[in-house]
Amino acid sequence: MGSKSSKYESPLQYIKGVGPKRAEALNEIGIHTVEDLLYYFPRAYLDLSRVEKIRNVRRFADTGEYITVIGQVRRIDIIGGRFKQRLVISLGDETGTIQLVFFQSLYYYKRAFDVGEVLAVSGRVAAFMNRPQMVHPSIDRLEVGGEGEPTLEGFLHTAGIVPKYSTTEDLRNAKLESKSFRRIMKEVIEQFLQNIREFMPESLIGRHRLVSLQEALRSIHFPPSYQLLEDARRRLKFDELFALQLVLALRRKSVKMDSPGIPFNVQSKYARALVDSLPFQLTRAQIHVIKEIAEDMKSSRPMNRLLQGDVGSGKTLVALIAMLIAVETGYQAAFMAPTEILAEQHFKTIAGFFKELPVNVRLLVSGQKKKLRTDILEDIRRGTAQIVVGTHALIQEGVEFSNLGFVVVDEQHRFGVAQRLALKEKRSASASQSGFPDVLVMTATPIPRTLALTLYGDLDVSVLDEMPKNRKPVRTVLKTESERQSVYQFVRAQVTLGRQVFFVYPLVEESEKVDLKAATVAFEQLKQEIFTDLRVGLIHGKLPSEEKDSIMATFKAREIDILVATTVVEVGIDVPNATVMVIEHSERFGLAQLHQLRGRVGRGSEQSYCLLIAPDWLASVRVPEKKQPVLNEEEDEKRVVERRLRAMLEFTDGFKIAEIDLELRGPGDFFGTRQSGMPELQLANLVTDAELLSKAREEAFNVIEQDPQLRLPEHQLIRNHYQERLKDSLSLLQTG
Ligand code: ADP
Ligand code: MG
Repeated sequence: MGSKSSKYESPLQYIKGVGPKRAEALNEIGIHTVEDLLYYFPRAYLDLSRVEKIRNVRRFADTGEYITVIGQVRRIDIIGGRFKQRLVISLGDETGTIQLVFFQSLYYYKRAFDVGEVLAVSGRVAAFMNRPQMVHPSIDRLEVGGEGEPTLEGFLHTAGIVPKYSTTEDLRNAKLESKSFRRIMKEVIEQFLQNIREFMPESLIGRHRLVSLQEALRSIHFPPSYQLLEDARRRLKFDELFALQLVLALRRKSVKMDSPGIPFNVQSKYARALVDSLPFQLTRAQIHVIKEIAEDMKSSRPMNRLLQGDVGSGKTLVALIAMLIAVETGYQAAFMAPTEILAEQHFKTIAGFFKELPVNVRLLVSGQKKKLRTDILEDIRRGTAQIVVGTHALIQEGVEFSNLGFVVVDEQHRFGVAQRLALKEKRSASASQSGFPDVLVMTATPIPRTLALTLYGDLDVSVLDEMPKNRKPVRTVLKTESERQSVYQFVRAQVTLGRQVFFVYPLVEESEKVDLKAATVAFEQLKQEIFTDLRVGLIHGKLPSEEKDSIMATFKAREIDILVATTVVEVGIDVPNATVMVIEHSERFGLAQLHQLRGRVGRGSEQSYCLLIAPDWLASVRVPEKKQPVLNEEEDEKRVVERRLRAMLEFTDGFKIAEIDLELRGPGDFFGTRQSGMPELQLANLVTDAELLSKAREEAFNVIEQDPQLRLPEHQLIRNHYQERLKDSLSLLQTG
């Protein structure tokens, strides 16, 4: 949402057409002031700028193209019997007539219009009984000027680039759909736009040839032309990216102001012993990244490093080596995973790797028996627990480390900066420890390096850009609902070969609203009807953790052939004998999630497969994409789904997938806005607007370098404008 920070906090009721009911509905979606409303940008535009004489409309019949005609109402008739009743308005100009047909609200329309009135109507033309007609067109009633010519002020819903606004059920109940939004926006722009003050310094505006804020806000809602719309979008995108970069610049400043870190002794015998004991060789990428990390660990500046690597690239091992260095220097290390299943798995992996090493590893998750928990906490407090693996239970109160020196945060997009900082703060308060721990954040949702540098302003970035040898890329296939039987056959064949299979579902229980096949229901069906002779298991998030644990163990021990699961298997599960990942309702999953799920297979030496099951209409994604204009929201959403699945079929490289994901979702969603404290982007796209992003970055970093508190006169307005968004970051600076 736009900045709520403006001085022009005019309440919504001042706007003509917004009564208490509408105001309330708008409040619900976070619009409280006139300014907020101005920042409620159109969701899409309808190009109705093609105005035609009626004689020509026949040419557009059934082409799907939107056109606009202007004419006079000649007749208004209600025709047809009880069931097919409709209202027909004949609209004529000097070249011919067209019929406007209404099946709903007949009497409303009959009353609304008079013979002789001049209307502009926009819509798609159909040929009915060989006569051109428009069904439920958009209509503007035009005021006829002196010479009988319509005045342009009359155009709001037709004849131009017309904005469409997203609505919610609440909004629609308050009669706020695109049409009334347009009326209200027009009012707002006429009455209030003049109060909006420019906040960007003039020099900056000049450097980047931006249009003024007022102009941008006007044109984004009512674009006089595509060029001006583009200019408006560019300006507003700049503002968004600038905000993002201000936050990052402030964060980086605060990190720099941290107290010193811990200089570790990186000549680690433990690490050497671990590497020597591995049944495989480290990849070149792993060796390179370990060196980068070791350099940081040696230094007395605290490390803040992001480790990016595709699923299965061997990040965990890199983290283990770093933790061993910390332990050997005499510090504790903490490893925070996003789910219990994962924490447990990591715990077991680590314990397995460390069999021969004198290192005490403990697991801390919620729901452990009190006695055990007390024991673990005591172990942590005394410093005898050298490596502690856990979930966010690690950052809860009552967890006190004796000398925490190294922190690993796995799958960072699930955790926010706040949590990262919280864990860092767990270092002992005692005087014996002076330095802050080093932090290694790991993510399997990698983004291109340049973008990462731009986005994670406060982190250094390492990349594992190489997979361990002898991994075969997973083959991905899309199957429609109608082709379900072939999926079952394939699964059976793989099980016959001794392999194991995942079936993943989006929900745990059948919900009335969304008719998804819940895992539990599907499990019963697969077990009792389809794979009666095979061993089918079920795992989902609502099971108690011991049960989850034992099911995973059974699956790993190959005592289950087919594991039906919800997305609890999403991240990090390591079962090399599993070669098939069937994803039901793949259209419901996000791209990162799909890629993560696919990463559960292809971990052994056998060829693995990912089968995406989708509704029949998505069969189209198996053929190359056709370019088509986006006409309405519904089609827009469908295309996003198509692009996600297409990306899965086309790419196995996690970097490419992440780039597309980022493009489709925007950073808020991608990073989890709330958690990461990133400002939301409404318009800007980090991938396609990369150039603008780097300009905004340069400007924002300059501003913060010069004036970290934004106190200079020329920066006051920036501060005011972004106040809400910057609040946390500025306070970070003050305390830092
Ligand atoms: P990530 O966490 O990056 O998804 P993992 O660390 O879970 O990947 O590694 C996936 C699997 O590959 C694990 O079984 C791990 O032991 C193994 N592995 C790690 N590094 C290598 C390597 N250099 N060669 C072969 N296998 C490796
Ligand atoms: Mg992992």
